[in-house]
Parts: sequence; structure tokens; C-alpha cells
Amino acid sequence: MTSPTDYETAPVELPMRVTLEPVPVEGCDVCAELDKQRSHHRLTRDGSGVTACNVEMRSHPHADGKRP
Ligand SMILES: [Zn+2]
Repeated sequence: MTSPTDYETAPVELPMRVTLEPVPVEGCDVCAELDKQRSHHRLTRDGSGVTACNVEMRSHPHADGKRP
């Protein structure tokens, strides 16, 4: 004999899709340029271009070690 589930199942929680984009570091020319390019990519709906700028902005070194 099968019995119906007599307990409540937890609701399925989907992870919130939060876009965490790197913030350009003040005074960094590379960040400033990437920020400009990123805005352009966004305007042209070039998602991979936006991602490429984000990756580069995150990964290029800063002399003072300051991270956004
Ligand atoms: Zn930078």
C-alpha cells in the first residue's frame, strides 16, 4: 500500500541571480578604460564583451594592492 506524503516538502529555493561586477579602482587607467569599454558593450548588448571587461578588470594587478 502506498501512502501519500504526510510531510511538507521544503520549497525549492533558486539562487538569486545577482550581478556582481567589479568596480573600477579610482586613479587606475586600465580600470577607467575597461569601464568605458564595458559601457559601450552594454549599449550594444554585447554580453560577452561586458564579461571580458569584467574579467580583465578583476584580474589586472594594482600596484597598491587595492581591490574594489
Ligand atoms: Zn585597475
